[in-house]
Amino acid sequence: MAEETIFSKIIRQEIPTELLFQDELVSAFRDISPRAKTHILIIPNKLIPTVNDITQEDELVMGRLFTVARKLAAQEGISDDGYRLIMNCNKHGGQEVYHIHMHLLGGEPLGPMLAI
Ligand code: 5GP
Repeated sequence: MAEETIFSKIIRQEIPTELLFQDELVSAFRDISPRAKTHILIIPNKLIPTVNDITQEDELVMGRLFTVARKLAAQEGISDDGYRLIMNCNKHGGQEVYHIHMHLLGGEPLGPMLAI
């Protein structure tokens, strides 16, 4: 059984954080340490520690991350100029929180940014 991270507490609002979106599958909130004008994290409500742990059963929730990213990008007014979606995996990927999350970054030119 994987250990919960701070993100599970945010999903349950045990740590008060403004949720930009929440449904039965995913939640979204602003990154505490934004690396771009818009920096939002979109996460599954269910704890999946890394991309390596995604199974076929998770295909619906993984797809939902993208439809919510699209919706939030429109809400932020960054759809036309563009944005970047990033998911880090494990040490070499620079993953810090072991509850998978999609970074939605935009609002300015992002350049060749590799690490966030
Ligand atoms: P990773 O490096 O794992 O892909 O990204 C983890 C992200 O979570 C980082 O960008 C970090 O700033 C963000 N983060 C870590 N702890 C918190 C928190 O308590 N609240 C919020 N909103 N973001 C967090």
